[in-house]
Amino acid sequence: MTERGLLIVLSGPSGVGKGTVRQAIFESDDNDFDYSISMTTRKKRVGERDGIDYFFSTKEEFEALIESGGLLEYAEYVGNYYGTPLGYVEKTLQSGKDVFLEIEVQGALQVREKMPEGIFIFLTPPDLKELKSRIIGRGTDEMAIIEQRMAKAIEEIDLMRYYDYAVENDKVENAVRKIKQIIESEHLKVSRV
Ligand code: 5GP
Repeated sequence: MTERGLLIVLSGPSGVGKGTVRQAIFESDDNDFDYSISMTTRKKRVGERDGIDYFFSTKEEFEALIESGGLLEYAEYVGNYYGTPLGYVEKTLQSGKDVFLEIEVQGALQVREKMPEGIFIFLTPPDLKELKSRIIGRGTDEMAIIEQRMAKAIEEIDLMRYYDYAVENDKVENAVRKIKQIIESEHLKVSRV
């Protein structure tokens, strides 16, 4: 029987740089896991592509998927739905490949309930001022949204205690190196509960 792949969940407050860290991990050539593309109802940003960055859907399509049990987790975040299609994750894990999720905190906690054997990594900002300037620097959101995202970030940092690992995102390359080390060590474990 093929050994089941590892489920790796990267989470943390908005603006902490999860997306950048995830991209850097996937751009490096020594990774051997699959990225689970999320579904969202938010509008596409400039440069984003359907089926690559997200599966962009309508609210009705998203709610139908919730109803049919097609999502491993989902969250409503700043007025939009975001969720992880269950089928892809399950199929990939069963095939023996690791699956990498990059999701916000509410969703990560749902995954923790359903698949507690996953590896839960919390990316932390060096400090909150830095976080705000990163959110502003990204330049894709209006001020009111930035304030909402900041308030949410402060609440979320408190949830770090539910995770297995905390990785500070002081520099992308440091965070990437640490995350890879975590995954490597997890693969060396003699037994997983
Ligand atoms: P953004 O709108 O900036 O792409 O994403 C907003 C937040 O949603 C980020 O914190 C991102 O990690 C999170 N996110 C992306 N996909 C998912 C998902 O499938 N589930 C959950 N719960 N959060 C997600």
